[in-house]
Amino acid sequence: MSAFTIAVRNGIARLELDLPGESVNKITRDVRDELEECLDQFATDNGIRAVVLVSGKPDTFIVGADIEAFVALQTREEAYDLVRQGQALVNRIERLGKPIVAAIHGAAVGGGLEAALACSYRIATNHPKTRIGLPEIHLGIIPAMGGCQRLPRLIGVRAALDIILAGKQLPAMRAYRAGIVDELVHPAILERVAFEAAERLAGGWKPKRRKRDAASLALDKNPLGRRVVYTTAKKQLLKKTGGHYPAPEAALQTVQHGMRHGLQAGLDMEAAFFAELAIHEVSRNLVQIFLATTELKKDPGVEGAAPEPRPVANLGVIGAGFMGSGIGAVAVAQAGVDVRFRDTDLASVGKGLKNAWGILKGRLKRHRITRHEYRKLERMLSGGTDWAGFGRADLVIEAVFEDLDVKRQVIEAVEGQVRDDCVIASNTSTIPIARIAEVTQRPDRVLGMHFFSPVEKMPLLEVIVTDRTAAWVTVSAVAFGRAMGKTVIVVQDRPGFWVNRILGPYLIEAGRLLQEGVTVETLDKAMTKFGFPVGPITLLDEIGLDVARKASTVLHQAFGDRMKPTEGLVDMTRDRRLGRKSGRGFYRYEGGKRREVDETVYEIIGAEASSRVPRDDVHQRLVYSMLNEAARALDEGVVRSARDGDIGAILSIGFPPFRGGPLRYLDDIGAEKAVETLEELAEKYGDRFTPCPRLKSMAAGNVHFYPPT
Ligand code: NAD
Repeated sequence: MSAFTIAVRNGIARLELDLPGESVNKITRDVRDELEECLDQFATDNGIRAVVLVSGKPDTFIVGADIEAFVALQTREEAYDLVRQGQALVNRIERLGKPIVAAIHGAAVGGGLEAALACSYRIATNHPKTRIGLPEIHLGIIPAMGGCQRLPRLIGVRAALDIILAGKQLPAMRAYRAGIVDELVHPAILERVAFEAAERLAGGWKPKRRKRDAASLALDKNPLGRRVVYTTAKKQLLKKTGGHYPAPEAALQTVQHGMRHGLQAGLDMEAAFFAELAIHEVSRNLVQIFLATTELKKDPGVEGAAPEPRPVANLGVIGAGFMGSGIGAVAVAQAGVDVRFRDTDLASVGKGLKNAWGILKGRLKRHRITRHEYRKLERMLSGGTDWAGFGRADLVIEAVFEDLDVKRQVIEAVEGQVRDDCVIASNTSTIPIARIAEVTQRPDRVLGMHFFSPVEKMPLLEVIVTDRTAAWVTVSAVAFGRAMGKTVIVVQDRPGFWVNRILGPYLIEAGRLLQEGVTVETLDKAMTKFGFPVGPITLLDEIGLDVARKASTVLHQAFGDRMKPTEGLVDMTRDRRLGRKSGRGFYRYEGGKRREVDETVYEIIGAEASSRVPRDDVHQRLVYSMLNEAARALDEGVVRSARDGDIGAILSIGFPPFRGGPLRYLDDIGAEKAVETLEELAEKYGDRFTPCPRLKSMAAGNVHFYPPT
């Protein structure tokens, strides 16, 4: 079956791409071959004066190259051939000799945008589904079908680097403002406008491109300006990547080279870099993460035949505080449900509503929603101190204080107000769900939905199930979390769930090291060098020292000495020293900005005057405390698979993505080597480093968490 259909009207060919058997359009080998044939026909058919390229898929234009073909690449040569073929096709579009108009509705990203950039004119719909960008960097590669060449030529180097180096996907309005698309229209008139443009272009019309980022283009014109752009970009990207990710540097170099030596030289460099990066370990790990996240989007969250998730149209949120208001805002904005808050007093309700509106306003400002949509969403949020609206709720999420008794009272009261088939979820970060559910009549309807803060930014949701949670309840919570735009992992109701379980020993170890005289800066640097976005001490300040203290108490009670926090760490919360939120933690904060380390913390911690711990051991103790716990928790069945564990760690605490997650990293190290290192650490520093049984048996049998790729 063909992916393309051609219909000619008044000399204008309507070329529709609708890849059979797929929900999205991508540039597969077959698509490439067929498009070549179509272009041949357009070139030779004198009856055709111009072409309009449209998508037959409801909400995507073209999402890029074919990831499966990309994953199958084994050698540099194969990668090189593949990219050269892609470049040839895009060049062909550019040199057709007849105008081609790209009529874009839905995602035009990666190779999809690169193809559109070679067209004569681009029209996009002003619709939330329309996204335009070059996300290749996130897969550890660079845009190599001319994206590093045509985008800077179109919108200026600075503006293009901003997109390429961060792998951005812009909403249609921003793409229009940047000058990537020439016109923005309502979806209903997309094709009509595209045909009119094609007609004009065929008649010799030369569209005047408004140079939208004038500053960016002006900088390109003078050599000094250009140099400033490149050196600033390089500095910024090294700060961000810590030198761990080769692709952004390669992209920068390619843009620079192409702008200096011409399009062809730029394309040559694109191909050379692409071939190298495509088979690089970093790209392999990033692609695995992408594939795992994609798989998770389809995973119902239970094994075997899954029941249908029940739809949620009305959401109740108890506790309109920091988390509750965030959950409410994201639920209306992403999942389009009505949200009713309940809190103890009207002032708290008002504060929660204001906070939620603030989050919606942020979306409006970033052009993710229109003013009209904002007004609609704003009205979908309401709140009070009573139970109005809860009788209609399909799901209630509680986000009240982290206190078992308070949560139990709340859950019990909720149960008295809602329908029998309403799902009740707790956003607790530490309290076992089964303990909360003990007070309910219907524990099968209760589970945990652990969002991370801030809710509107953090992509992960842990759905926590007890032995009694019904399968339909699990799949419904998973589906709703996904509708909220989250990547969802289902975890067992064990202390700390997954994320806090593996984070606990790592942060506790950081506390021990502090006590042994290692400085705050040394600890933080060791882990940012490893690839974490922030070090453990900064992370403690961000989480809040009171919150961390509560979590570590839970873990200590559950797992004993292995997770015993140092006294000093516990003492830190005296005098309202709570971390960033109180302006004072391990660091000082001023006007929301982190300042220097507060030297008085060493006294509170009872730190030794100087450290005798070798630098390598600092690194190993931190990393291996997390790795060992991850293996142990997986063995206990806390997460359903290594995949879920890795994605959970990356999307919550920023475990370095290029390492693929803690379990994949263990696979890379090899169980035998990991056991050896842990045994050395145990000998030197104590039993808490004793390798967990799973790792030992894996070492003995040379087994991996993942099958070999
Ligand atoms: P918060 O103090 O900002 O909000 C709690 C809200 O609950 C307040 O508005 C309070 O008035 C309200 N409340 C208290 N008792 C109530 C009751 N009986 N009925 C109705 N409302 C009541 O706290 P938060 O940071 O939003 O945390 C809420 C929950 O989310 C906690 O369980 C916490 O562990 C969890 N959590 C927090 C974070 C975080 O980073 N803050 C992250 C994940 C999970």
